[in-house]
Amino acid sequence: MLQIQNLTKTFGATCAVRQVSLEIPEGQMVGIIGRSGAGKSTLLRLVNRLLEPSGGSIAFQGTTVTGLKGRELLAWRADCAMIFQQFNLVNRLDVLTNVLVGRINRHGPLSSLAKHFTAAERALAIAALDRLDLADQALQRADTLSGGQQQRVAIARAILQDPKVILADEPIASLDPRNASRVMEALSAINREEGLTVLCNLHTLDTARNYCDRIVGMASGEVVFDGRPESLTKAAVQRLYGAAGVEEEIAESVTSTSLPAFEPDRRSAGSRVALTA
Ligand code: ADP
Repeated sequence: MLQIQNLTKTFGATCAVRQVSLEIPEGQMVGIIGRSGAGKSTLLRLVNRLLEPSGGSIAFQGTTVTGLKGRELLAWRADCAMIFQQFNLVNRLDVLTNVLVGRINRHGPLSSLAKHFTAAERALAIAALDRLDLADQALQRADTLSGGQQQRVAIARAILQDPKVILADEPIASLDPRNASRVMEALSAINREEGLTVLCNLHTLDTARNYCDRIVGMASGEVVFDGRPESLTKAAVQRLYGAAGVEEEIAESVTSTSLPAFEPDRRSAGSRVALTA
């Protein structure tokens, strides 16, 4: 369980995240939606402590994450795999090495990484690539791959990290619809099969509806919607995007049915990938 309580982050006069409280059970796939500037990215960066909160707290499985220092902070960051809109691969390295970078937290500085991966780790990296249908590209330079393939390499890297949480910041914003679907399917499969908690910032409502167990809607740094995809009514969408800003396709795709309040997903988490190398 990830518990976020009254989390606040200000940048000068801007309050990017304001008094956000969320309880996210293990194994849930959460889509965070909202306009640009709503605070989605700041929220993810607060969770993995890339940013320090101005107030409030975060706890994971009973341990307070806010306040961790030194080795414990590094361990928490290693438990949170980040997936970025721009993939953040090392272009000049081959795909396999990029995936092995997911193990770096167990190896120390980047400069020494290439020599230190074990055969077992390489096998794990190949298996992760195979799972994402990319084993044939293992020895290609990362920058020879399409955007969709690069994002799937980033997901393979996240798998090698053996995280407890995946934080994906607009992972499909740069991709065409077909590649976007493949990337979302890959994230969804990891969520289901490994029981990993996934927090995913998304631009499009339909994607959040199709792939997420729960949708958190943010506006001006606050949570203004928290519920199952089916309960994201037209009125809720208008609160999120503003009546004038609701594109026709969004307005048409939402249901006006009123549904019961959200209850956390109770399904049991699957077993995590064994990474014993
Ligand atoms: P979103 O991810 O929903 O687009 P962000 O979390 O990036 O929103 O930004 C929320 C608000 O915080 C915006 O007003 C943005 O300009 C501001 N902000 C984000 N990061 C910084 C920063 N490092 N310095 C100053 N302001 C920032």
